[in-house]
Amino acid sequence: MLHNIITHCWTNQIFPSSWKQAFTILIYKKKAKSDPSNFRPITLQPILAKVYSSLIRNRMYCYLLDNDYIETKIQKGFWKSISGTIEHTELLSNIINNARIKQRQVIITLLDLKNAFGEVNHDLIIKALEYHHVPEELKVLIKNYYNGYNISIGTEDYTTDPIAVKKGVLQGDCLSPLLFNMIVNTLIKTIDDEKIKLMGYSYCKSLLPRHWFQFADDSAVVTSTEIDNQLLLNVFTKWCNWSGLMIKVDKCSTFGIKKNGSSSAQFKPYLRISNEMVPPTEINESFEYLGKSFSFAMKTNNIKSKLTDDLASYIETLNRLPLHPKNKLLIISKYVYSKLRWRFSIYQLSDTWVIQNLDSLVKEFVKRWLRLPQSANFTHLYLPSKMLGMKFSLPSDVYKSSQLATRNILKSSKNEEINNLYKLTQTKYVSEDVILSQSQPRKPSDRLVKETVQKICNELHLLQEQNSIISSITQQCTAHSLIAWQRVCESLPENIFVFIRKALIFSLCTNTNLVRWKKVISPSCNICNAVKQTQLHIFNNCSKAISDGRYKWRHDSILKTMCHYLSQLIGFDLFVDINGFANPTELFYNLRPDIVLLSPNEAITIELTCCFETNFAKSRAYKENRYSNLENDFKLEKRKFKKIFVEVSSLGFQPKQIREFKKLISQNKNINISRMLQKMSEVALRATFYIFTQRGNKWSNPELLNFI
Ligand SMILES: [Zn+2]
Repeated sequence: MLHNIITHCWTNQIFPSSWKQAFTILIYKKKAKSDPSNFRPITLQPILAKVYSSLIRNRMYCYLLDNDYIETKIQKGFWKSISGTIEHTELLSNIINNARIKQRQVIITLLDLKNAFGEVNHDLIIKALEYHHVPEELKVLIKNYYNGYNISIGTEDYTTDPIAVKKGVLQGDCLSPLLFNMIVNTLIKTIDDEKIKLMGYSYCKSLLPRHWFQFADDSAVVTSTEIDNQLLLNVFTKWCNWSGLMIKVDKCSTFGIKKNGSSSAQFKPYLRISNEMVPPTEINESFEYLGKSFSFAMKTNNIKSKLTDDLASYIETLNRLPLHPKNKLLIISKYVYSKLRWRFSIYQLSDTWVIQNLDSLVKEFVKRWLRLPQSANFTHLYLPSKMLGMKFSLPSDVYKSSQLATRNILKSSKNEEINNLYKLTQTKYVSEDVILSQSQPRKPSDRLVKETVQKICNELHLLQEQNSIISSITQQCTAHSLIAWQRVCESLPENIFVFIRKALIFSLCTNTNLVRWKKVISPSCNICNAVKQTQLHIFNNCSKAISDGRYKWRHDSILKTMCHYLSQLIGFDLFVDINGFANPTELFYNLRPDIVLLSPNEAITIELTCCFETNFAKSRAYKENRYSNLENDFKLEKRKFKKIFVEVSSLGFQPKQIREFKKLISQNKNINISRMLQKMSEVALRATFYIFTQRGNKWSNPELLNFI
């Protein structure tokens, strides 16, 4: 249907008038609401108009490219698959550095047009189409499009009648960037001449002289002498007169470097545009082009202090917000880093500086939010979810990947000059370029991530004690079950979440740790007086806790959760060794398994163990031995007899062997197995958390936990 409509419009060169009605909303920015310039206009077009105009754009772009009518070395804005800002800023930085070091003269003038997109005359658009030999049919179609185009402007409480658009390229339209570039291309083609190019700054054999940078409406003129710079400014002024665009001379700026004795120095070039002087950049001041700051020394001190301030202010804001720590970490990864990434891409800051200044700041607060002790190891947070990490990275990781991306842009640019720039600067980026040379051009960042994870895994093996849980659990559980486990943790209240993260790396306030941190004198257990109160001792091994029934309470709480789901199994009678159920003792002479599922021809026993994270195998062997004779102890006859063992660790992990149990449950399609397993983990975690908080208190025999 849509295809038919568009084909019809295309073949008849029609742009339906209902598609030429756009709506502009004004979004308030700041300051006085009475001033329209304090609002940001966003224009919405009918969706079909967008589809149609993007089709026109794609056709025209291919046509221009195939016929080599457009220039993409000097003008880099809006072109497909060209990272224009990076390519331009890298080359311009290199020119300034070269001039300073080699004591060569260079003059750079930035030009500013008054509201370029909005001031374009519609006649000029047609002239540009003609200049590029755009076929008559297409020209008529675009003419039709611009003819009778209306917008209504709306604020919160008022909408205007449709207003005809008489000037400027259409706001928010897919075709506009290309049309604007074609207009600018009439200028670029004029100066894209071998003789004019020689006016540019030339400094080495592999790079051509460079006289002009263009990105959308941002121009920079680069020459070796003031005279040549003035000549190019005159060309620009003439082009502006022809095109009807206005230069805002007071917003332009010029910057110069020249030889001064035996060194080089910044100077203030004297240049004019239509009898007005171009304001020169003051000595030791910087100018900005495409979001990057350039100066004589190209020092990054100001950038560094701004980065540090920005990061500190984001983190302090985050610190004040009442958010779950996992969300704070997520906001850092997804939002805060995105605010640094651009600067990380365009400025070379040194790994050491980023580690010492930015990493340390992030680490300090993350440790505070997760309530980790200063000495706690941080590496586990970098790991992916399936390895019990939080997929968190530090600013230095983001910095490395941003620099890598920049290098990759230069290396894989379609512009040969930019490839040469890459080769020329290789000595300054050794580590990035090694990675680039080893990997597929598209995926260098994946390789960086892989290497980082590998490095962390190696470190984890070295820090054996702190990481024994992580390394043992990742070996004994499936990745799938660990991701589910992470989801359970993230759903728990903040205090339990923080408790779990600490427990994973043995950083809980056990007396043994408190002695190490010099907070208490004796490491012994408060309730049983054992010599060392470790995490293992509190979670599973305290003799007083055993006699109090603390661990049995946890065990029975998990059992109760399981039975909620098992009671839905059809065709079985359920016997469970907790109050409220028929008891398995009715079925056995001496032994007493936790659960029995009984049908007329089958008896299935389930034995649950809640052990320490590193003790799955030991617990299983113990139980198998203990119940090796269970079938002979069974009172009833003529039934198939089956034994299933289930282990859940004190932190809720379930080893691979749980598949036997899952297979049993999967007989009944109505039972939500993954929910049941998650609830078993949740109850184990909550119970262990409670046991931990009660490590110095008398046991009060609480009721079994009930989370289903
Ligand atoms: Zn104890």
